[in-house]
Amino acid sequence: MQAVPLIFHSLEVGCYIYRWLRKLRSIGFSLTLTLSRIRKELMEPSTSRKVEQSQRLQKRAAALIPGGVNSPVRAFGAVGGDPRFIVRGKGSRIWDADENELIDYVGSWGPLILGHAAPDVLDAILAAVCNGTSFGASTPVEADLAELVISAFPHLQKIRFVSSGTEATMSAIRLARAYTKRKYIMKFEGCYHGHADALLVKAGSGVATLGIPGSAGIPEEFLQFTLALPFNDLSAVEHAFQKFKHQIACVIVEPVVGNMGCVPGGDDYLVGLRLITEREKAVLIFDEVMTGFRVAFGGAQEIYSIRPDLTTMGKIIGGGLPVGAYGGPSEIMDLVAPLGPMYQAGTLSGNPLAMAAGFATVKHLRDHKDEIYPRLEKLSGKLVEGVAAAAKDAGVAICHNRVGSMFTWFFTAGPVTDWDSASKSDTAGFARFFRAMLDRGIYLPPSQYEAAFLSTAHSEEDVMQTVAAAKQAFAAVKA
Ligand code: PMP
Repeated sequence: MQAVPLIFHSLEVGCYIYRWLRKLRSIGFSLTLTLSRIRKELMEPSTSRKVEQSQRLQKRAAALIPGGVNSPVRAFGAVGGDPRFIVRGKGSRIWDADENELIDYVGSWGPLILGHAAPDVLDAILAAVCNGTSFGASTPVEADLAELVISAFPHLQKIRFVSSGTEATMSAIRLARAYTKRKYIMKFEGCYHGHADALLVKAGSGVATLGIPGSAGIPEEFLQFTLALPFNDLSAVEHAFQKFKHQIACVIVEPVVGNMGCVPGGDDYLVGLRLITEREKAVLIFDEVMTGFRVAFGGAQEIYSIRPDLTTMGKIIGGGLPVGAYGGPSEIMDLVAPLGPMYQAGTLSGNPLAMAAGFATVKHLRDHKDEIYPRLEKLSGKLVEGVAAAAKDAGVAICHNRVGSMFTWFFTAGPVTDWDSASKSDTAGFARFFRAMLDRGIYLPPSQYEAAFLSTAHSEEDVMQTVAAAKQAFAAVKA
């Protein structure tokens, strides 16, 4: 009889001790940071960082996991060099297994808008984990997060949580088909909506990085209802709607694409998509897995003042833990089981740790949004312009796209507005730049076709250090 309370008691004590250890560790981190900054001021940036531990770990992982990675772009295939094994992160910085300190502009591919190991988020996860990790039954925090997310997106009335962005888009498309009773779906070249069969057509992200058209293992019959059109081209959309009259269930789009590098939808383009889908009674899905709470608190739809029918989300709403979500008006969402006939389920959906991390992150953003988003805008602008100026001084032809704290330097004169123009980039030049930056302690996405991100934890000093590194890196690329 006493075993349960005893275990519970020791867990509570354990958590208490952990909290204190974390506080001490955080003080340790600050000290390490200060010391390493002093050291850096005295020394030239290193151009021969140690990689032995990362190499050893990659060798071991490659024998056990395809490519040594659990997501393809992490293998550095497009940029060369040794993929770094990361052992810890704090704020804007990460440390690899060889103790190299790096300023991180990947942020776990977008979720970490508050930086690594953000205190609010860690505290929320810790408090949740002390109560158990998963129950397969509802927990109160699911509605807390749902309420918070819904309050930021005016067209949402209901939302369903899943465990990844892939599940979110896949489910939203199934729902659109159930709602319209139509078969065709429309997507755009260079947009990536996860790895569901029907969506791996002319997809961006890792598919573009690897330079492959789609994926093996998908029978062409599975793709017969997918229309992949050029991005930012309304006439192609009009033409497809004429050709497939009353047959197109939905149009899914990244309103600001992150997966061919950062490429914003033109104002007229997104308005046009809204007007055409309304006229044709097709469902407009904004895939805001990357842009939700990133480019503005209310995502890209806030910036462009457009209300899609369905929105998909992920990344930030999980605060670094696995989450996805899709939502819209009750009229459509009530078709989802158990209320309606569209089936979708998940063992770990609405997992209490992910919900707690997401709630802490989104709440922090909501409570500080008037300071956070203007600061991210200003600092990101300074960084992106600073690096672009460094390229110009070095005579390296690049152009850049940026929306808030999401950005890409393309190794082409540009402008980059779609996949055709993005794919003109000198990817070998980007790879040299990437490696030169990494050698100088700057961790960029290891692909020309992935957006980089700034977090609230990045400082003016980080930006200055990055621009200084870029000056040297462009010189090295040119040499
Ligand atoms: N949609 C978009 C816009 C994305 O950027 C991504 C992932 N980068 C996904 C969907 C898929 O999300 P996940 O990797 O969580 O499955």
